[in-house]
Amino acid sequence: MYLKSLSLRGFKSFAKPTTFRFEPGITCVVGPNGSGKSNVVDALSWVMGEQGAKNLRGGAMADVIFAGSSGRAGLGRAFVELTIDNSDGLLPIDYAEVTISRTLFRGGGSEYAINGADARLLDVQELLSDTGMGKQMHVIVGQGRLDAVLRATPEERRAFIDEAAGVLKHRRRKERALRKLENMDQNLVRVLDLTEEIK
Ligand code: ATP
Repeated sequence: MYLKSLSLRGFKSFAKPTTFRFEPGITCVVGPNGSGKSNVVDALSWVMGEQGAKNLRGGAMADVIFAGSSGRAGLGRAFVELTIDNSDGLLPIDYAEVTISRTLFRGGGSEYAINGADARLLDVQELLSDTGMGKQMHVIVGQGRLDAVLRATPEERRAFIDEAAGVLKHRRRKERALRKLENMDQNLVRVLDLTEEIK
């Protein structure tokens, strides 16, 4: 599995549609200060489901939408599409090539798609969860992140290890199942109340 390409349209400084094509092996992005190198990495974590505006170096999520520059008006939406080579079948999906896309509208709506079909954030997270490219994005080591790992509390360190070992996915599933059970219990109590009333 490797990242094949990343397309951006209206994401941060990338107003014009731009596609980066990657080959297996190491890719370096070079450019002058402020030219948008970190924005490419931000696009990568954003399309994989990053939810924290701060982790994307912004104040609010809408800050990822091209805000305008001298000579170019701001845009109404940000779009990023990631294409992954899955010929080794590491992603649990029956396609040799997988695309994940995310769109955010300035009005507030947000969409994900997997291979062109509408998807939820949860679907994207589950698809990536056994690859190490999970929700917490430990695969993307930003400036200052190593320090944060070294200074982490034992609980935070445990969370890193859980994520790397694939345990976090099951813990999240368990939490969702427990929430559903709780709702079911409440519904049951309500049904019993109603039955009593009808009697
Ligand atoms: P450095 O080498 O200094 O870390 P860099 O190449 O990583 O720089 P980035 O931080 O990726 O550069 O890009 C910063 C540029 O992106 C700034 O010029 C900033 O104005 C622009 N930028 C960020 N968000 C937006 C946005 N929403 N709309 C337009 N431009 C944006």
